[in-house]
Amino acid sequence: MTDQYFYPNIWGRGILTSAEDILGEKGLNALLNLVGLAEYIGNHPTDNIQKAFPFEHVAKLQQGLYDMYGAKGARVFALRGGEETFQYSLAKYDKVQRAGRAAMGLGSFELRTRLGLQFFAKFFNSVSDQVVRITEDDTYYYWRIEICPMCWERHSDEPICHLGIGVLRAAAKWATDKTFRIQEIECIGMGGEACVYAMDKQPLD
Ligand SMILES: [Zn+2]
Repeated sequence: MTDQYFYPNIWGRGILTSAEDILGEKGLNALLNLVGLAEYIGNHPTDNIQKAFPFEHVAKLQQGLYDMYGAKGARVFALRGGEETFQYSLAKYDKVQRAGRAAMGLGSFELRTRLGLQFFAKFFNSVSDQVVRITEDDTYYYWRIEICPMCWERHSDEPICHLGIGVLRAAAKWATDKTFRIQEIECIGMGGEACVYAMDKQPLD
């Protein structure tokens, strides 16, 4: 079964809109034709939070960008798509935004960062079928996606879930107003158990 896991519609919409911002309408349509998703041409997912955008489609779009623009190009699209998707979510889940601010409170920087990550992991788990868990050691926070849409049924020699880096970067920036180095260090697409992002505990700025 490939149609049992879903992202909320607005995330699918965010991915398409951000691709269109860079590629233009024609470019996006070419991408949609290439990956067999012509159903979305002129018909983007509805602007709502219903869980109806299949993981399979997330993966196909990421793969299409990779096929058209190579690893580097795909990464640029995915980072931007991830950031836009996060911004869309904030706009849509207004209560979440306030709850997030309240949850993070006024503690130390490290505490706020940790609470922010935990908050977003819980949030993402509740609004989509993606499953995220947070762990940490002295140097890194680890954002572990155990059911991942980005590499869904894909195989690769390198990590390919760049969209998640964009989302995570935007979430960390929103929570702390800082930029962090984030790398995907393990990927289900490479045969890993989870897609794991290591985020430096020390921000870059
Ligand atoms: Zn993945």
